[in-house]
Amino acid sequence: MFLTIVFVVKGTAMFPATAALAWAVLIYLCIDFGFWNRVIDVLPGEDQIWRAGAEVFVAASLVVFTYTYLHLNRWHVRYSHLTIGWLIGLVLLLGISIIEPSVAAGLARLSIGLTAVFGFALIVYLATHGYDRAIMLIPTWVLLLVWTFAAWLTVTGYLASDVVQPALAGGLVLIVLLIGFTVMQHAFAGGVVSQGAMGDTERRALALTGSGDIVWDWDVQRDRIFASPEAEDLLGLQRGALEGPARDWLEFLHPADRDRFKTILDATVEQRRGRIAQDFRLRSEDGHYHWFHLRARPVLGSDGEVIRAVGTLLDVTEERTAEERLLHDSVHDNLTGLPNRELYLDRLRAALTRTEAEGAARPSVFMLDIDRFKQVNEGFGLAIGDSILLTIARRLTRLLKPQDTLARFSGDQFAFLLISESQPERIAAFAESVRRTLRAPITLGEKEVFLTASIGIAMHDGKQIEAEEMMKDAEIGMYHAKRLGGDRIEAFRPALRQHGTDLATLESDLRRALGREEIKVLYQPIVRLDDKTIAGFEALVRWDHPKLGRIPPADFIPMAERTGLIIPLGLFVLDRTARQLGDWQEALGRSTSLFASVNVSSRQLLRHDLINDVKSVLVRSSINRGSLKLEVTETLVMENPEYAAQVLTRIRELGAGLSLDDFGTGYSSLSYLQRFPFDTIKIDRTFVRGNGSGDRRVILRSIIGLAHDLGMDVIAEGAESESDAFELEELGCEYVQGFLYGQPMTAAEANRLLFRTEAAPQYEQA
Ligand code: C2E
Ligand code: MG
Ligand code: MG
Repeated sequence: MFLTIVFVVKGTAMFPATAALAWAVLIYLCIDFGFWNRVIDVLPGEDQIWRAGAEVFVAASLVVFTYTYLHLNRWHVRYSHLTIGWLIGLVLLLGISIIEPSVAAGLARLSIGLTAVFGFALIVYLATHGYDRAIMLIPTWVLLLVWTFAAWLTVTGYLASDVVQPALAGGLVLIVLLIGFTVMQHAFAGGVVSQGAMGDTERRALALTGSGDIVWDWDVQRDRIFASPEAEDLLGLQRGALEGPARDWLEFLHPADRDRFKTILDATVEQRRGRIAQDFRLRSEDGHYHWFHLRARPVLGSDGEVIRAVGTLLDVTEERTAEERLLHDSVHDNLTGLPNRELYLDRLRAALTRTEAEGAARPSVFMLDIDRFKQVNEGFGLAIGDSILLTIARRLTRLLKPQDTLARFSGDQFAFLLISESQPERIAAFAESVRRTLRAPITLGEKEVFLTASIGIAMHDGKQIEAEEMMKDAEIGMYHAKRLGGDRIEAFRPALRQHGTDLATLESDLRRALGREEIKVLYQPIVRLDDKTIAGFEALVRWDHPKLGRIPPADFIPMAERTGLIIPLGLFVLDRTARQLGDWQEALGRSTSLFASVNVSSRQLLRHDLINDVKSVLVRSSINRGSLKLEVTETLVMENPEYAAQVLTRIRELGAGLSLDDFGTGYSSLSYLQRFPFDTIKIDRTFVRGNGSGDRRVILRSIIGLAHDLGMDVIAEGAESESDAFELEELGCEYVQGFLYGQPMTAAEANRLLFRTEAAPQYEQA
């Protein structure tokens, strides 16, 4: 009865369920003890039916109790379905009990047993998952299990004694009492406010506490702002710091937010309606700013004036920073922090608009791709690759003026938007400085990485152009530079676009070029310094491309090497030069010492049967022994010194000469190079020219002296002026090659020069 009353007060399903169980047990016990007969007239035969009905009622109320107490509907609908099904079964059982009371009673007992067993399993499961109610029910349920077992023993006849019947009845009462206590515990443990009916104001107050928002209250008439102490705690301010007149808040507000804050408060008071929804920053004790979101609403007094504005304050710093980061990330590259393609494109568009509308400086677009960066990634791993990219980004950023932009587009691709320079020469100089910056080695612990880049430039020519088109042009230039071997700068020109930009095209062009006489061999004179007569020529190859015009060797030799075309190309130059030399020697008479030298590239020397090529060329032409020389660079020899020494010795034996080309740019160790059968060294023009300092002269003199001691001739490259020639002669150098004595020229031009000089040995400057 008590439980039933509690239900009326508390209104939770748990109480009627428990009460029903208690009533069911009471009814059952009454029947058992024969009380019922006294209250109502029970016919002798009907006793069985009543008993069975009571047992079904106990079984059903036990199921309902388990279901409601454990809140099974919260865990899974499956439990609800099961319970409903079970109850329907029990209701049917009630019907059966009228016809077949013994069957119904048996089934009801089975149901009680099953409920006890399954219920226990469920309780243990929920208890292990930390569900309080299940834990509290365990003792009761253990008792229920024991009781069920004892009842089973009694029914099956294992237990037969006078005391059994009353004991079982007592056990049942004990169980109901225990359940009752457990339930009561819950009824009153929850506190006053958390359960039952609650006023709207109370609920709102609780909701505010729950949300963790800070209460913000501005008493307009007394001009006092109150903010709950959480705000001060959050900012590390003293208690009460945020309490006081509105103007006191200004000092905590971010300077940029102050005016807005003032205006919004004024507006609220004046308009007497609306809502305040405002983000602003408050300074914390340590000087950092926190973002807050204020939501408040004016409260009007009886006279219609605003008496206060009340609302909540929420710390939204995290959301704001996340938002800002998102904004930043969407237009910046996340590795280097540089602008990304979108931002770059936007800035380029803006720059183009300014150029066209206001005549501002013309922008140029630089597209830059690191050569063979894939190998760096593969060789060192992605992490190191990333740090290299960071280094590159940092270096490139230093070249920028404030109005320029550097962006990273993808992987190893960067782009400049150059606005600070618009003179073509200055742009070229800037490109050169970019290239140099990149070439400086990057130190990685003990190692150094050498990187180069292919750079494409699109300059604004004063005509209207779309940003995307300019970028595409620069990209075409860049791919062209890449194709020509990298480490170079290519300005875009329309011919590049018309030509098609894929590597395959240029390669097949080169393949055809050999058969089509597009490959030309030019000869640059090498002059004896003492009498200025021509001692020989260096053969230098050129490619006259039908669309792209004349292409210098540095632009296509690397591609020819990569594709293997260097083999037929090299043979062609060798053969052509040998024939030409044969003709000249014939014209000059057999006793002449005129020589010609041909450049040999690494693939020819290291991966090809160069020996056979040289042999067949020498056999075909009748030239003086040692007068056809091969020029090999030091770096090439050092790629595989043992093998190179072998091949070079064989070539020397065949009767060809050997020149060491570009000396002074590589290892430059003559004593080491003595192992190779060179008869001539060519000092590189960068070393010859230099800055004319005393040191360089000393080094040059000792190189020349040492070469002579080792029995080698010395040719100085790149003599461009009389003073160069004079200095070289003074240093003891006997041959020079350089623009002073002639550019690379056609065979016909060389003929003219040669035979005029023969007639008058004194070289006349052209
Ligand atoms: P290299 O063998 O060192 O050739 C000398 C380069 O210096 C030539 O450039 C020549 O035109 C240039 N030069 C000569 N005198 C002067 C001067 O007074 N001032 C300046 N600034 N430059 C001067 P070129 O013809 O462009 O050749 C560049 C390189 O291409 C050559 O360097 C050589 O390594 C390679 N090369 C040329 N022809 C062939 C070839 O048939 N086969 C191979 N494998 N490589 C070749
Ligand atoms: Mg050379
Ligand atoms: Mg050279």
